[in-house]
Amino acid sequence: MTEIQNSNSELVTQHYLGNTVENRPMYYLQISQPLDKTKKIIWMDCGIHAREWIAPAFCQWFVKEILQNYKSDPNISRFLQNLDLYILPVLNIDGYIYSWEKDRLWRKNRSPYMNGTCYGTDLNRNFNSSWGSIGVSYNCSSIIFCGSGPESEPETKAVAQLIEKKKSDILCYLTIHSYGQYILIPYGSTTEPASNSEELVGDKNFGLHKIIAKSTGTDDHAFLILNLQMYVAEKAAAALMQKYGTSYEVGSTSLILYSNSGSSRDWAHMIGIPFSYTFELRDKGTHGFVLPPDQIQPTCEETMLAVTTIIDYVDHKYFPGGAVMLSSKTKNILKSDS
Ligand SMILES: [Zn+2]
Repeated sequence: MTEIQNSNSELVTQHYLGNTVENRPMYYLQISQPLDKTKKIIWMDCGIHAREWIAPAFCQWFVKEILQNYKSDPNISRFLQNLDLYILPVLNIDGYIYSWEKDRLWRKNRSPYMNGTCYGTDLNRNFNSSWGSIGVSYNCSSIIFCGSGPESEPETKAVAQLIEKKKSDILCYLTIHSYGQYILIPYGSTTEPASNSEELVGDKNFGLHKIIAKSTGTDDHAFLILNLQMYVAEKAAAALMQKYGTSYEVGSTSLILYSNSGSSRDWAHMIGIPFSYTFELRDKGTHGFVLPPDQIQPTCEETMLAVTTIIDYVDHKYFPGGAVMLSSKTKNILKSDS
């Protein structure tokens, strides 16, 4: 990360976040065009689960692609006018190293519990979003142990503190996992739809009827409600598929995968970040966490298309004229979507 910063000093800065349980420093990279204006933020973290090795690989690929192409790619140039990218390539550093050195399938962090007789909290059950309520264990030897309380783990706390501080500027929270080929939207802790300002009232004349999450009213051809996070995820999955034909399922975590509480994705949306997604990268179980090396690059390439689709959408929604800021509460998405 320091090398990346030093060789791209016009665009990249490295920032300290906190220390892990085993006292390793955590840093994120900020990719930011030095412009004399206030910009919004896209956050992406990888490797909250140690064994999901394709995730940190994607964060690195993402940074490389942005740095290589931001001058020549008109989409990247456009969104870097308005958005700063914050990338945390390995959230769970201790666990990641443990998965390289001791146990390839280790998932959690490395915090000791019960006088050092058992180790590890599932950091993606440790956020302060319906913490401890569903899809967790209170037993430290479980792979879904949720910790002793919300943000009991220093890694969780480091990320949560930064995001809390910046939340009014963060438009999109992305967290990269494997495996299963899903783009997941909130919530995991309830099957109720995530419905803040991001629901849209429209009608069939706008041509959005194919991706309607649900409809309401007496005449559902004329009056529809669309979950915007879902709509954008569908666009991202379609873009991803164009590269190698890889098929992703899109939906709310609790409806299409399983219920869980204390996830970073739920938490980010609950504190007001309008777009919040979990990516579950390749594959669908043939190799699982041990994705073969020859799939690393194609997975990164296709995922790049999905992620940039989301960033492009967010950019155009909040900066429709290229620079003019719209209120995040706007319901008038039809205009910017046309
Ligand atoms: Zn995971």
